[in-house]
Amino acid sequence: MKFVFPPLPQTVIPVRGQDAVFPVNRIYCVGRNYAAHAVEMGHDPDRDPPFFFQKNRDNLLPEGTDFPYPSMTGDVHHEIELMVALKSGGTSIAVADALDCVFGYGVALDMTRRDLQAKMKDMGRPWEVAKAFEHSAPCAPLVPAAEIGHPSEGAIRLKVNGELRQQGDLNQMIWKVPEMISYLSDLFELQAGDVILTGTPSGVAAVQRGDIMEGEIDGIGTLRVAVA
Ligand code: MN
Repeated sequence: MKFVFPPLPQTVIPVRGQDAVFPVNRIYCVGRNYAAHAVEMGHDPDRDPPFFFQKNRDNLLPEGTDFPYPSMTGDVHHEIELMVALKSGGTSIAVADALDCVFGYGVALDMTRRDLQAKMKDMGRPWEVAKAFEHSAPCAPLVPAAEIGHPSEGAIRLKVNGELRQQGDLNQMIWKVPEMISYLSDLFELQAGDVILTGTPSGVAAVQRGDIMEGEIDGIGTLRVAVA
């Protein structure tokens, strides 16, 4: 095949303890999936079911690389999240079968231009300018489910400069991982390589240049990112 210009390299996520890497297809993100975060953003968790938006795969930032403070914002926030990486997909996947699609899990950040998001919300416009910018999804290496199983509970937390900012537990998710996969598969044909960011616990706040973000999910791993 001849290309009119060289195609971009495949986006990949390293896998802990393996030479093989995970080739990324699409990134789905769920909003308001922890009740305490929905409340802090001014929503009623009972009346506002979670919903999805997307990032681009080239928004991923591998661990070991600084997060460059983005343009056009003065209020970029951290959102620590569990990442779910799929090894297979399909449509209309039953909740009971959904975990069979999961390759592994990782620690990730859904960095958000909160000021632009608020503007877009006010105007009823899409969120891409707030969510889908370059380097907006720092992520740690994936851990295979074959090694750790499918965690449905475990502390998830984020410290900034050593100070605890976000804290929750995976068991506080409103929509559980199998339900998210099943729901997405009714809307889209999920594919191997798709990843899901599963929402953030409460405590989101702004970062500044020079800050060090340290995320951790019990049983899955850690993620350390500097804001440059
Ligand atoms: Mn998020």
